[in-house]
Amino acid sequence: MTLRPDIASRLRRDPAGLVCAVVQQHDTGEVLMVGWMDDEALDRTLRQGRVTFWSRSRQEYWRKGDTSGHVQYVRSVALDCDGDALLVTVDQVGAACHTGRRSCFMAGGDLGAVVGAALHPGVHEEPGSPGEGRSGADQG
Ligand SMILES: [Zn+2]
Repeated sequence: MTLRPDIASRLRRDPAGLVCAVVQQHDTGEVLMVGWMDDEALDRTLRQGRVTFWSRSRQEYWRKGDTSGHVQYVRSVALDCDGDALLVTVDQVGAACHTGRRSCFMAGGDLGAVVGAALHPGVHEEPGSPGEGRSGADQG
């Protein structure tokens, strides 16, 4: 089988023919992992109820859980606004990460980012930008 043309025409693939697939646990919202799909992997994922990736390191299709038992059962697949990323919601069996952690981002660990906060409710300020909270001081 081949990927539906109306879907294939919306994909914006990288030079290797791949799009990024973000995998999220459907009920908790956990972001579990990121993988890569070509047209065939996406087609299989849409049809089989199981997530299939293209492994860039092994250069082969890889249906999640076939060797590890950590199956990802598909709940939904969505394409983003410009067609270069997929959001796959799943029911994850066991660990999503090959390290045995539930998510790849738990395995990689927190990087200690500075936590940003709006100064006033409803006002969002970007770091280093003049900010909307000021009066006309920057105008000129
Ligand atoms: Zn991982």
